[in-house]
Amino acid sequence: MMKSHLIFIGAPGSGKGTQAGKFVADKSFKHISTGDLLRAEIAKQSALGLEVKKVMDEGKLVSDDLVIRLLQANVDLAAHQYIFDGYPRNLSQAQTLDKEVLKGSPSIGVYFEIDVARLVERLTNRRTCGNCGAIYNLISKKPKITGTCDQCGGTDLKQRADDKEDVIKNRLQVFQDTVSPVLKYYQDLGRLIKVDAEQSPDAIFNLISSKV
Ligand SMILES: [Zn+2]
Repeated sequence: MMKSHLIFIGAPGSGKGTQAGKFVADKSFKHISTGDLLRAEIAKQSALGLEVKKVMDEGKLVSDDLVIRLLQANVDLAAHQYIFDGYPRNLSQAQTLDKEVLKGSPSIGVYFEIDVARLVERLTNRRTCGNCGAIYNLISKKPKITGTCDQCGGTDLKQRADDKEDVIKNRLQVFQDTVSPVLKYYQDLGRLIKVDAEQSPDAIFNLISSKV
């Protein structure tokens, strides 16, 4: 069986970051985050990096074309198995990724399905330590002492502005609207698996592992 690259698709809070970490640690996948790639390329001061820096310094969005060139310059599809995380974000990007980067190299879209009400609950209960940045959840990962950070003892556990309920609901709606055509695209090509993001991380890991 040919080894497949994985394209993780899931709303913020759906647990795809956790799975990406497990696949990197246990299966030697390489994790591709376009944000990280952009920063690394700028740090390298390559011609491409300077071009990216210019766009970002001007406060503009990095174009799809630039992202594709960045991927082409940084992935070696024959040497590694990759997880694309948070990219593609829309149908056009999914098509271009296939055509310009993957070029027939086997890949599977993995959709982390989660109930919106559950996700809202999970995200609105997230708290971040204002001192050290440790992340808690008032339901699933409470600090040992209420209101106090386990890591640093700080007492400034706060909710991020973008974790407020109406902001989250709006963000999820935008996500659903743009991601639906992406899911249909992979589905039509027989390259989509859906995982129930409510399962345990180990169960999800085993399920995805069985497909690659
Ligand atoms: Zn802290």
